[in-house]
Amino acid sequence: RHRAAFEAATSRGFVGGKVPLGIKRKGLRIVVTGGAGFVGSHLVDRLIARGDSVIVVDNFFTGRKENVMHHFGNPNFELIRHDVVEPLLLEVDQIYHLACPASPVHYKFNPLASCCGLHKTNVVGTLNMLGLAKRVGARFLLTSTSEVYGDPLQHPQVETYWGNVNPIGVRSCYDEGKRTAETLTMDYYRGAQVEVRIARIFNTYGPRMCIDDGRVVSNFVAQALRKEPLTVYGDGKQTRSFQYVSDLVEGLMRLMEGEHVGPFNLGNPGEFTMLELANVVQETIDPNAKIEFRPNTEDDPHKRKPDITRAKELLGWEPKIPLRQGLPLMVSDFRKRIFGDHFDVNP
Ligand code: NAD
Ligand code: UDP
Ligand code: UDP
Repeated sequence: RHRAAFEAATSRGFVGGKVPLGIKRKGLRIVVTGGAGFVGSHLVDRLIARGDSVIVVDNFFTGRKENVMHHFGNPNFELIRHDVVEPLLLEVDQIYHLACPASPVHYKFNPLASCCGLHKTNVVGTLNMLGLAKRVGARFLLTSTSEVYGDPLQHPQVETYWGNVNPIGVRSCYDEGKRTAETLTMDYYRGAQVEVRIARIFNTYGPRMCIDDGRVVSNFVAQALRKEPLTVYGDGKQTRSFQYVSDLVEGLMRLMEGEHVGPFNLGNPGEFTMLELANVVQETIDPNAKIEFRPNTEDDPHKRKPDITRAKELLGWEPKIPLRQGLPLMVSDFRKRIFGDHFDVNP
């Protein structure tokens, strides 16, 4: 029945990514796990705006009710406080599976409590959501990560690259957890014919990011606003490629609605060293902000940049917002939250 409902909805022009998103059609019932988090809440906004019914499943480990509060009272929106490590019974057409604390401070500095919990979320949580997808015939999208490439020996990273991951390092609970989640996803695809999609997300930033989560963009922006020095780890020559959140959400939706399993790299190929990023933050917020060097963490990937040829060709997707354009949008949200006016419920 669910498959039929999905096919009916998609036959009105939704499979293949050929029809622009946002077109009028009967709404789907969609679960977004981790929907109260940074990326999830922006995705929820788009799905609700498109006319879908959205159920957010979140345990608020790193997410915040404030991120989705503006949908309270909307009959198309439901919020369930639930840990995906526990089984869940729902009737839905699509599952966007984002639940997983993405913040590095937790897993690097509190290994037992955080890492085991994180690993369990990635493994048991993903298994449960795949079991749910199998039972109701829902389409399932996994938000994996560029961290599956580890400290890559190939640059830029293509989806066919298998990665260079230390299985016993400080970051491995995240990297290996997501690698297992990808494996489980493909097992359910091959073994149980679940319709699956895999996105490998590269560093993403934007409004509603956790302020003190330890990620580099949120750290630098918060530090510059608070007139603290920007903490550059190591020599600052390591690179990352930063994607604005609305580009990512567009990519995730195209992937879900399209006909390709993936994995797809979703990221912005604009590559910056951490020192260059610090300079962009100085230009945007405070040219006098100081830079302070700190020791780097173990196993830090030296460089990272997505090859997005596959997403361009098969999803018709590429990011539109460069760092210098996206950063000010994040800064105004951070400014409001840090200086305590009130949080911005709908940035
Ligand atoms: P986030 O921490 O803001 O959001 C994750 C959400 O999942 C939070 O709301 C958290 O409370 C929830 N959650 C965590 N464990 C849960 C559990 N056991 N049960 C239910 N809910 C749980 O992180 P984000 O940046 O929005 O990341 C979303 C997804 O994208 C994650 O899967 C992450 O691995 C992936 N990703 C993000 C980035 C990035 O740069 N933001 C990069 C690569 C991959
Ligand atoms: N599961 C769930 N919701 C469902 C169906 C399954 O949470 O609607 C969980 C279930 O508890 C199990 C996991 O998903 O732990 C995998 O389910 P599956 O049926 O694939 O495997 P099995 O239960 O046979 O091991
Ligand atoms: N980093 C930094 N200063 C900070 C936080 C992070 O220089 O205050 C560096 C970190 O060492 C890494 C890069 O920024 O090389 C990206 O770190 P982040 O934790 O944001 O993402 P990930 O390592 O998961 O790509």
